[in-house]
Amino acid sequence: MRTKIIATLGPASNNYDTMKAMVEYGVRIFRLNFSHSDAATFKPTVEIIRKVEADTGIPVTVMGDLCGPKIRINEIVGSPVQVKRGDLLSLGLPDMQGKASALPFVPLDMPELLVGLAVGMPVSLSDGMLQFTVTKVNVADRLFEMEAKNSGVLTSKKGIAFPGKFHPMPALTAKDKKDLHEGMDIGLDAVALSFVQTMDDLKDIRAEIEMHGRWIPVVAKIERQNAVDNLEDILKLADVIMVARGDLGLECPLSAVPVIQKRIIRACRHAQKGVIVATQMLLSMVNNPLPTRAEAADVANAMLDGADCVMLSEETAMGSYPVEAVKFISEIAAEAEPYYIERMKGPFAPKPEKNPAKYLAYAACLLAENTEAKGLVPHSCSGATARLLSSRRPAQTIHAITCDKPVQKQLNFFWGVTPHLGDPAITSHVARAEKFVQNSPLFAPGQSVVITAGQPTPGQAATHTNELKIYYK
Ligand code: PGA
Ligand code: MN
Repeated sequence: MRTKIIATLGPASNNYDTMKAMVEYGVRIFRLNFSHSDAATFKPTVEIIRKVEADTGIPVTVMGDLCGPKIRINEIVGSPVQVKRGDLLSLGLPDMQGKASALPFVPLDMPELLVGLAVGMPVSLSDGMLQFTVTKVNVADRLFEMEAKNSGVLTSKKGIAFPGKFHPMPALTAKDKKDLHEGMDIGLDAVALSFVQTMDDLKDIRAEIEMHGRWIPVVAKIERQNAVDNLEDILKLADVIMVARGDLGLECPLSAVPVIQKRIIRACRHAQKGVIVATQMLLSMVNNPLPTRAEAADVANAMLDGADCVMLSEETAMGSYPVEAVKFISEIAAEAEPYYIERMKGPFAPKPEKNPAKYLAYAACLLAENTEAKGLVPHSCSGATARLLSSRRPAQTIHAITCDKPVQKQLNFFWGVTPHLGDPAITSHVARAEKFVQNSPLFAPGQSVVITAGQPTPGQAATHTNELKIYYK
């Protein structure tokens, strides 16, 4: 399987047998959701994952997902309250309840979110099930009146969104910082940051990771319109992007999300950054042993869009069929991936530009195809060459050899890449790759692979991939 499966862990899956079965069906990344728990609770879970890794021999990446500034309203008096289309409600800081002109009153304890809220702006509550438009603004008291655009039930503590509005607050909250450091202490291999808006949010988390003294890759969750607008900048500092369709569907028109998904995936492949498609992929499998036709198509289409990873949330965290959901994705991949490769008719050609590393990767893919090689074997210290090969979407599996464990865990996010640890006792990178092929049962004697490596040569300023070899076992 070329697509990587990310499974969120929760009560339905937090045990050795379920996790091992999920890894056997293609999970390469487990997601620990810090919205619902903390590092102390996750510590035994990480220990189980390490045991699964040891027992299966498959490297598994543990991704901590930091909850970020998810905005929730406070207690609604008389909750649940029936709201009818056309009703007027008030919104404001909790202590303004007495001054509210229209009832019910929706209390929100975050003054910075109310800055800049103006007449005509949309407000969305209860995961988008209730939509409002601001109709009146009392600037002095920071009190707002809004009109319901549809009917529904309003309850306390629900998520609230202000679609399209910029919020003058960082993505990395105090809780996130605590979760990040404690999470790194229990062994997180990657971290995801929620509600990223600008490049500064990534600078913040990078600085925090650096302070911890160990590098891990950062996943930027795109779930705000302004993050979509700033994607090019965000891509410069993120290692992986998540199309977080749950909150994105609240912040942007839901009808725009499928095309946003396609645009983000394309931009990520061009930038050699991994991309995850997340949320509601097989949602009905929380309760049913089979997904809907539309869900099956959604997973296949994410693969045909070129996603590196697909993610399961409730399906594996609290559903009745966590292993079946993962197995179903692997079955969809068995149909969708050969079709994707067949449709491409060869690796993606780079656009005309001066970029020797990219052209070498492309040449390696062409060579692998022409020689009917059994695989591509890049020696990749930083992972960059493996990512370049992956971005060409070759038909051959990319067996990336690295001596850097954090890089091995990062490469789990990339399409078609199986990361292996190399033998550091061998100095030559090509020899390291050859030894891997010699020892690996994946290749039969007489079969060939295409090896790429970078070895410092006299006169060369920096080490880049500079060797390309057809190797017969
Ligand atoms: P969440 O992020 O599940 O942490 O909210 C994913 C999404 O919003 O789609
Ligand atoms: Mn989200």
